[in-house]
Amino acid sequence: SLRISSTRSRKDEIGQLAESFNTLSSSLERVEEKRREFLADVSHELRTPLSYMKGYAEGVEEGVIDPSKGLSIIQKEANRLERLVNDLLDLAQLEGESYVMKDEPIAFAQLVYEVVEQFRYLAAQKRLQVHLDLDEDVIISGDPDRIEQVIRNLLDNAIKYAHEETTISLTIGREGSRAQFILSDQGIGIPEDKLALVFERFYRVNKSRSRKKGGTGLGLAIASQIIKKHGGTIDITSQELKGTTVTITLKTL
Ligand code: ADP
Repeated sequence: SLRISSTRSRKDEIGQLAESFNTLSSSLERVEEKRREFLADVSHELRTPLSYMKGYAEGVEEGVIDPSKGLSIIQKEANRLERLVNDLLDLAQLEGESYVMKDEPIAFAQLVYEVVEQFRYLAAQKRLQVHLDLDEDVIISGDPDRIEQVIRNLLDNAIKYAHEETTISLTIGREGSRAQFILSDQGIGIPEDKLALVFERFYRVNKSRSRKKGGTGLGLAIASQIIKKHGGTIDITSQELKGTTVTITLKTL
């Protein structure tokens, strides 16, 4: 790494210049390090389903794996690859400087209600109750497809990580001049020391559990990017083994 030092006192101009150069260069190194890490993660995440697919195709060809079992696993892994690539493209788009969100009035309750309808079946499979408390007068402004994507990612997690036969509740209300959305589940929760990490790309508290449930580890990273681009906030609180609550605030119209 490149460092500049000055023999003169830290107070003088060259000393100050050297100091700000060093700060800048180490922060650039951190960015570069993050980028490398991300690329390594992406490669690993893409390679895993590919290895499964190749392995099972080979097994079927050699007659050591039952063809219909092999095909169904290959299909599952192909679907995972597709989800991954779609999520990665979304993230790349969202993180781009030039990405422009739509800015339209959105009936928040209506949008959330429609997402809940899409998830009824999954919720029923785990015998979950879905409790709704949605203030229908709350109008937000933003990109309806993107906000729907956020609610889908969050609800998908809530259902995935909930204990069976518990209740998931969704609330829309106001917090001062802002719209507030709260989603709570009674599930496995997130350990306190891991909470800050869950918005990071590819971070998963339990890799194999997330994988089994079809997760890509990008859902919360995408959700937080979208909310950030809307000038909103997203927070998560959790109690291990008890449950998790995600709170979003957004501008109202
Ligand atoms: P994934 O595709 O793995 O669900 P996410 O980015 O959506 O990825 O979430 C990251 C990680 O945060 C998950 O793997 C899980 O460990 C944790 N997590 C997210 N939501 C919940 C929740 N409602 N309950 C428990 N853990 C959660």
